[in-house]
Amino acid sequence: MALFSKKDKYIRITPNNSLKGPLNNKIPEVPEELFAKCPSCKHLIYQKDLGILKVCPKCSYNFRISAQERLMITVDEGSFTELFTDIESKDPLQFPKYQEKIEMARSKTGLHEAVLTGTGRVKGQKAALAIMDSRFIMASMGTVVGEKLTRLIELATKERLPLIIFTASGGARMQEGIMSLMQMAKISAAVKKHSNAGLFYLTILTDPTTGGVTASFAMQGDVILAEPQSLVGFAGRRVIETTVREDLPEGFQKAEFLLEHGFVDAIVKRTDLPEVIARLLAFHGGDK
Ligand SMILES: [Zn+2]
Repeated sequence: MALFSKKDKYIRITPNNSLKGPLNNKIPEVPEELFAKCPSCKHLIYQKDLGILKVCPKCSYNFRISAQERLMITVDEGSFTELFTDIESKDPLQFPKYQEKIEMARSKTGLHEAVLTGTGRVKGQKAALAIMDSRFIMASMGTVVGEKLTRLIELATKERLPLIIFTASGGARMQEGIMSLMQMAKISAAVKKHSNAGLFYLTILTDPTTGGVTASFAMQGDVILAEPQSLVGFAGRRVIETTVREDLPEGFQKAEFLLEHGFVDAIVKRTDLPEVIARLLAFHGGDK
């Protein structure tokens, strides 16, 4: 089940407050978002000052970024080939309005599904790459996400490529019920075969990585990195507190807490990520 609803972090500045009123039944155009409010230090930041990396200049908070933006800051220009965009959900539960929801997410994000998959080069080194995007139905994992990831991992095994997955997810996709949960086992089996072939798997946990994704492939990397202050967990804080009837410690489910408790190998600033990824690939026999 998706644990988090999308919160709009951006403050929309409208040139004219009268836009709030009825405009002869016309839908007002949404203006460019000029400012962003940092969820961490609460400062209002001019969008341009966030730069391409979208890091808060006041407190270094890493804003959530789209899969396309992540791709741009990670892979060598022109090196990425997107794969597996021909897979469609069969809507196994005939869930009301599910197909419309997918269509809306597609037009909003410009993505085929909640994960972008393909091959590309990071500082010259070829890798199989997957990037999840929380704007697409909270990057929930349904059959398409599961199948795209599985095929990517199988391709990486066949072509002897290292595998890099940027995780982000609200959990399993409730509109696909048990079929969603099955993806955890399916992807994990593919990861195991990739591992048995002696190949390198790197996961980078980004904000937020939760539910079935955390409980499966996000935590199966040979090396697990996380972006600063990312929320990483299984069930949400409120769910746990009301279930066990205990207060949870401060900073619970933040990347820093996980590092302290041995679940994460390192926290890497977004500015340093491409360099760190490249070094890890080279160290594990990259450079194909
Ligand atoms: Zn900040």
